[in-house]
Amino acid sequence: MLEDFIHEPRVAYFSMEIALRNDIPTYSGGLGVLAGDTLRSAADLELPMVAVTLVSRMGYFRQQLDGQGHQLEAPDPWDPASAASALDAMIAVVIDGRPVWIRGWLYIMTGYQNGRQPVILLDTDLDHNSSDDRQLTHYLYGGDISYRLKQEIVLGIGGVRLLQALGFNIRQYHMNEGHSALLAVELLRRFSFAKEDLRPGEPLYDMPRIREMCNFTTHTPVEAGQDRFPYPLLQRVLQDGIDMATLKHLAGDDDLNMTRLALNLSDFVNGVAKRHAELSRTLFPGYQVHAITNGVHPQTWVCPSFAALYDRFLHGWRHEPELLMRAECCIPDDDVLQAHVLAKQALIARVRALTSVELDPQLPILGFARRMTAYKRADLLFHDLERLAAIAQQQPLQIVLAGKAHPQDGGGKKMIEILHAAIRTLRGRITIAYLPNYDMEIALAMVSGADLWLNTPLRPLEASGTSGMKAAFNGVPSLSVLDGWWIEGCIEGITGWAIGSSTSESANGNDALSLYDKLEHVVLPLYYHNRSKWLMVMKGAISKNASFFNSHRMMRRYATEAYIR
Ligand SMILES: *Cc1c(COP(=O)(O)O)cnc(C)c1O
Repeated sequence: MLEDFIHEPRVAYFSMEIALRNDIPTYSGGLGVLAGDTLRSAADLELPMVAVTLVSRMGYFRQQLDGQGHQLEAPDPWDPASAASALDAMIAVVIDGRPVWIRGWLYIMTGYQNGRQPVILLDTDLDHNSSDDRQLTHYLYGGDISYRLKQEIVLGIGGVRLLQALGFNIRQYHMNEGHSALLAVELLRRFSFAKEDLRPGEPLYDMPRIREMCNFTTHTPVEAGQDRFPYPLLQRVLQDGIDMATLKHLAGDDDLNMTRLALNLSDFVNGVAKRHAELSRTLFPGYQVHAITNGVHPQTWVCPSFAALYDRFLHGWRHEPELLMRAECCIPDDDVLQAHVLAKQALIARVRALTSVELDPQLPILGFARRMTAYKRADLLFHDLERLAAIAQQQPLQIVLAGKAHPQDGGGKKMIEILHAAIRTLRGRITIAYLPNYDMEIALAMVSGADLWLNTPLRPLEASGTSGMKAAFNGVPSLSVLDGWWIEGCIEGITGWAIGSSTSESANGNDALSLYDKLEHVVLPLYYHNRSKWLMVMKGAISKNASFFNSHRMMRRYATEAYIR
């Protein structure tokens, strides 16, 4: 099977996490889902790529919640043999002074036509390795900083070596976030000049050649979010003979900054939305940062009733999601409404099954689900409980929430407890459900079954955000802070609504007031009193946003602007 993939030169796409499919727990959130959608589009479009990631045998974690909203975490193991085939080649990287052996699993993603996309899952759980080293590819984002560094060595350095051992001919590398930037260190080694040929002061490595081969997508809008490792740790863990002066020149004097390393060794650098690219240019002066805005995979993020609708009225949308721009005039209102009613019923049934909460199909559902972490401000809607209750008394609404907090993110866990406290306080006045163990399947049920999709991050920390794009694919408008993709996607009253402005102070109080005002005076009155205008906004979300914010457009642009240059 591998033979099918090694004949033509390929683009190697490296990502710490990839959401291959819902029952394979090798992802934690948006970054992994984006990586999965990237490859699903690559498969649909039959782009010559190969992806590399960790096998993460113990998954991210399975979330359970007690009545108070305390998060309980259990390992979420999976068996790679159930979905992938073991590859023979084996290579080693030296970690802590001893060889750590790595083998790969071949997982194949299939497109809707004949496209097949190989994904190599790196695995250190081999008899040859010590029990500690066997665990290096067990837990996604688990362990301490040294575990993390070792994982990134396996991913970056191990990944490049294994691709070579498998016989792949790689013409371009693409780093999805800085986690895989050590791949560039392996390329330094590969493209170093013979010492005896060098005169003093001449470069040791063929940097232009490496830069020509490397592409980097940054996802972090603040310095604090970037992966960094102290040099003493690096030197202890990775004694690999790379010239330290060169490394510090590339990755920063104080710490090894993975973002800097990736920036300095990539000719093509991309931010994930226009605003994020601008921000990255000020964060990293002197670098050219492109702006190919993220998108989501059409077929994956359309619920069955809308897929049937598009098949009927906009044949070919799976390959050319641009066709969705015709939704406005080519799909009758009643059919859109009927498709939404079915999606809403499905969500209501799922909420009942998971939580025993009974939602009313006649009342609007607000959806909010994402990684629970402070900057996403899941609690903004609950900033003033009495105000929210007063709004709901006049114009009833219901809320469905979901999201996991990283096991070491105390602030994120606190957030889940705050939400549960709000649920209790509002009981009898607003029906609210919190679904446990947020994953792709719950995400699809929520973004299609809700009536309104909410996003309330603290600007400018949401580099892109993608769940609102998924909602648009299902005719669900967004009510969102103007950050990330929504700065490009929001046409007020046409595709959804903005909370605050893109320039005003992003303080909790201001944004909460703006959120309540919009809900009370604009969104809910439209929902209750102007069905045809509401349907126009639903169709606006499809025709103006789903037609654009999809991963087919994103990948066609990466192909023409980054991979072929
Ligand atoms: C889409 C998705 C995300 C990312 O959503 P954001 O809006 O970018 O926060 C996270 N987790 C899952 C399971 C998703 O499907």
